[in-house]
Amino acid sequence: MFTPKQMKDGLPKLDGSSILGFTSIDDSDLILKPDPSTFAVIPWYEENKTARLLCDVYWGAGRGRLSRDPRGIAQGAEEWVKTAGFDYSAWGPEVEFFVFDKAHWDVLTPYKGQSYSIESVEAPWSQEGTGYPMGLQEGYYPSTPSDTLTPFRNECVNVLSENFGILCDNHHHEVATAGQCEIDIKYDYLTNSADATQSYKFVIRNIAKRFGKIATMMPKPISMDSGSGMHTNVSLWKDDENVFFEEGQDGELSQVGRYFCGGILDHANALCAISNPTTNSYHRLVPGYEAPVYVAWSGSNRSAIVRIPRHFEGRDYAHLKRLEFRAPDPSANPYLVFSSVLAAGIDGVKKKTDPGDQVKEDIFKMTKEERRKHGIGVLPASLGEALLELESDRIFLKPIFKDEVIDKIIELERKDQRDIAVRPHPHEFYLYFDV
Ligand code: GLU
Ligand code: MG
Ligand code: MG
Repeated sequence: MFTPKQMKDGLPKLDGSSILGFTSIDDSDLILKPDPSTFAVIPWYEENKTARLLCDVYWGAGRGRLSRDPRGIAQGAEEWVKTAGFDYSAWGPEVEFFVFDKAHWDVLTPYKGQSYSIESVEAPWSQEGTGYPMGLQEGYYPSTPSDTLTPFRNECVNVLSENFGILCDNHHHEVATAGQCEIDIKYDYLTNSADATQSYKFVIRNIAKRFGKIATMMPKPISMDSGSGMHTNVSLWKDDENVFFEEGQDGELSQVGRYFCGGILDHANALCAISNPTTNSYHRLVPGYEAPVYVAWSGSNRSAIVRIPRHFEGRDYAHLKRLEFRAPDPSANPYLVFSSVLAAGIDGVKKKTDPGDQVKEDIFKMTKEERRKHGIGVLPASLGEALLELESDRIFLKPIFKDEVIDKIIELERKDQRDIAVRPHPHEFYLYFDV
């Protein structure tokens, strides 16, 4: 247990050189300062009661906050939004993820070379047999016994709320057949919500293990089926009023909300490098799976990158008025996603960026010509493209992200992108082996 002095001054306990992206080996002594508000007893360490505390990361010897501490970036974003004339922003992520029956090496086997065949990659990974199989993309909202994961999700919700103080709005099986789940958590302030998202991933993985399963936040583990998103809902508040709400406006979206949306659309391609930070992320951002591909906004159209959900209307529901940014996936760091989306949105508010007309048609069904007529752009098709976008559009992040932080993000992702680029993909054997 920590002493009061340790709670105040922190623990000299972190080797920053062993954390990807933190520090170099020649200057690696960091301090962890626990945040008492994040105290939670972990229920799955039954024999030795164990609690966890999230910590802020500082340099040793009084050198201040580590600028690469994502939690520090999020806290800075919360301060900065006040200088833009708002009190706070609220964030509600909708995290989707897959749960597999088998150990991960079974899932990975087809990719290990030797035994690869196209069928084995495209076969649906069925949950343990119930006699009620679901077809590809037919997983949405089935009841038991087709959905074998209801007890698992119930347990996740219990642990999240009882042990971690994270309230869940709802949970359900998602569209992908192979055990894709969604559990939604209630919106909260920026850092709180990012903390909750990190705790959520920790809880989901551990409860899955207790059920003899494995959970993954990988955005697109299965080809030919839906991927997992982390749709990010955001609203902006002043004097305890949601400033995105305005009665009488189209979709009850205020002018500030429209400009915020304009900012996200304007910077969407660069944002992808942060909201979709893995090479695998771009296998999800393809047409036909409810993941966004085109840069446009809409009411309830799921093919647009920004949606303004319209479930209820009127002042009674003003607190729920929000923009849903659909690009992010759960491989992203939530502190960095929320902070960068805030930077893009506020940039739009400051520059009065008009998002144009909303697109009501299914964009996946539009021809190139129709998309051009509507001025609809396309998201990066790969991590490499997203990194080029971020390199050429990074100034909007400056109020929140230090330059060296962006440089580090680009450097680390570029490494993944190159590591994949130099390796032949299994599918290339199917396409080209006999050429
Ligand atoms: N799984 C879809 C995605 O990749 C989203 C499905 C939904 O609209 O909830 O974003
Ligand atoms: Mg969903
Ligand atoms: Mg959603």
